[in-house]
Amino acid sequence: MNIEIDPRSGFCFGVVNAINQAEKELQGADALHCLGDIVHNSEEVNRLEKKGLITIDHKTLENLKGKKVLLRAHGEPPETYRIAKENGIQIVDATCPVVLKLQTKIKRSWQVIKEKGGQIVIYGKKGHAEVNGLVGQTDGNAIVIEHLDQISIIDFSKPIVLFSQTTMSPDSYLELAEIIRIRMVEIVGNDGVPLTINRSICGQVSNRKKEVEQFAKKHQAIVFVSGEKSSNGKMLYEICKAANDRTYMVTSPNGVNADWFKNIDDVGICGATSTPVWLMQMVSDQIKKLTIAS
Ligand code: SF4
Repeated sequence: MNIEIDPRSGFCFGVVNAINQAEKELQGADALHCLGDIVHNSEEVNRLEKKGLITIDHKTLENLKGKKVLLRAHGEPPETYRIAKENGIQIVDATCPVVLKLQTKIKRSWQVIKEKGGQIVIYGKKGHAEVNGLVGQTDGNAIVIEHLDQISIIDFSKPIVLFSQTTMSPDSYLELAEIIRIRMVEIVGNDGVPLTINRSICGQVSNRKKEVEQFAKKHQAIVFVSGEKSSNGKMLYEICKAANDRTYMVTSPNGVNADWFKNIDDVGICGATSTPVWLMQMVSDQIKKLTIAS
């Protein structure tokens, strides 16, 4: 069996930075708290928890005093910084610079657009940590659209500034922007109300689409490795599946099924921006084991 691990798969720089910061902090300490899963991959979370990382939720943060807490790459709303200050918590801020820049841009846009009676619309997953951090920049006023059929909550007669969560599908975002533009023209005509579309999808995600598509096409079968909670994992898996029908998703080597490799001698392994290379290597070892045995 010829097995290739996609050389471009693996952690993005935002995740690498957060994990490096956690490992550095854990070198001189027994424990470090992390607000939410440091990465949407339970295998990697387990590895770091064995080194002393303690994953907490926002409820626990409210009652935590005087500890050190790492904020992961997704970023946090201003409320989290306020609670940390009140509780004497030292923050290790591993917010990805791309997310930080987007938060700042949304905050500035909100200051301007609210004076004009306008709206900030964010294309993203409701309740996702990054989206919560973005909505927090507008004091909770941003409208979050997860699916195209939810756009009726937007007021098309008022100015709109549109952003996307960094890990959404670029094609779906463009589709949403176009639908909003058409609806605004239908309601207020051509000379009315401004729509500002910001390109806020991370290059680490948007550039992956083409690469992953090509990778999926060049192999007889694809094993896609990703945590269940990863947004870009779901999106990239769909792209692989559309390019190669024999694409299978696993979260760990245990999910690999020998039946997938019947009558083929070539398989590609790829993953999300939150998938560690060591995990893809373990999946590769498992495929070797199963195909030698069968
Ligand atoms: S996907 Fe992009 S924005 Fe998100 S953590 Fe990685 S580098 Fe940062």
